[in-house]
Amino acid sequence: MAEVKKPLIGMTLPQLKEVVTELGMPGFSAGQIAKWLYEKRVTDIEEMTNLSKANREKLAQEYCVGRYEPSSAMRSVDGTVKYLFTTADGQAVESVYIPDADRATLCISSQKGCKMGCRFCMTGKQGFHGNLTAAEIINQVLSIPESETLTNVVFMGMGEPMDNFGEVLKTLQIMTEKWGFAWSPKRITVSSIGKLDTLKRLLEETSVHVAISVHSPYHEERLGLMPVEKAYPVREVMKCLRRYDFAHQRRLSVEYIMWNGLNDDEAHAQALVDLLSGSNSRVNLIRFHAIPGVNLKTTDEGRMVKFRDYLNAKGVLATIRRSRGEDIYAACGMLAGKVKKS
Ligand code: SF4
Repeated sequence: MAEVKKPLIGMTLPQLKEVVTELGMPGFSAGQIAKWLYEKRVTDIEEMTNLSKANREKLAQEYCVGRYEPSSAMRSVDGTVKYLFTTADGQAVESVYIPDADRATLCISSQKGCKMGCRFCMTGKQGFHGNLTAAEIINQVLSIPESETLTNVVFMGMGEPMDNFGEVLKTLQIMTEKWGFAWSPKRITVSSIGKLDTLKRLLEETSVHVAISVHSPYHEERLGLMPVEKAYPVREVMKCLRRYDFAHQRRLSVEYIMWNGLNDDEAHAQALVDLLSGSNSRVNLIRFHAIPGVNLKTTDEGRMVKFRDYLNAKGVLATIRRSRGEDIYAACGMLAGKVKKS
């Protein structure tokens, strides 16, 4: 069987330095390779023309660029496109491209499925099939047709990014460092359900925006929706987040899916105000998208407006997030690529 070549995308500059040292290539070629991968975005080592032919051949014996195109695309009536990428082990992961007036956002996945088991989420229902590598994560950004036009990336697709911290951190470095895409961290939002151990590292080691999925301000109720509440109660998560500065460059958003008769009344709104006090967060109210086999109901628009107005009146900035791509199962909580049974 032919030996599988290792992908170069997904590698940080220090990792590329190790590669070139190992192959006996000059140290500066690591920077050249990073430029080819992340700035010029080549798909073949042959295109790295400022490396000598001998060095390109040496590199190509063990490595490949590692780019691969989406295996399918579904287009929504609202312009949203859901891309499906098939990983080397036959798993499917999804990314959602969301064009807007002056923005083009890509929502990317960090894991194949998810082990967090949130009751309302289709990805959670399919179980966990492994972590994505930094190569597989960054490939989603590099290999969609609209890649060059992206203004923002959000880690809100399949998986809990803080459950795959090492690979997510490498991806963030590639996106923000000078030798990578050189993006401002303000163009990136990482979403988490509040897995505090690694969330603390994200807060310390990066300056990207953070979004926390809260969904209920009450411990018992949240526990019934999100098992993570047991290990990391949302009250503790907010306590930790209050120690960071979200009043200036960095933004903290709170995601709140609304369910009819469950978390959409005034008592919840007030409890949410109390929970968020002093955190400088803003709230995104999200309409629930019904999924098969889940006995939770969508709140009507009127109740969402009332809830939003209550929060705003109490000084908590809240907006209702417009749903995108619902017709192609690309909206929040609906991602579940068809995966190989393992
Ligand atoms: Fe995993 Fe996020 Fe779905 Fe929860 S909501 S099961 S963390 S993908």
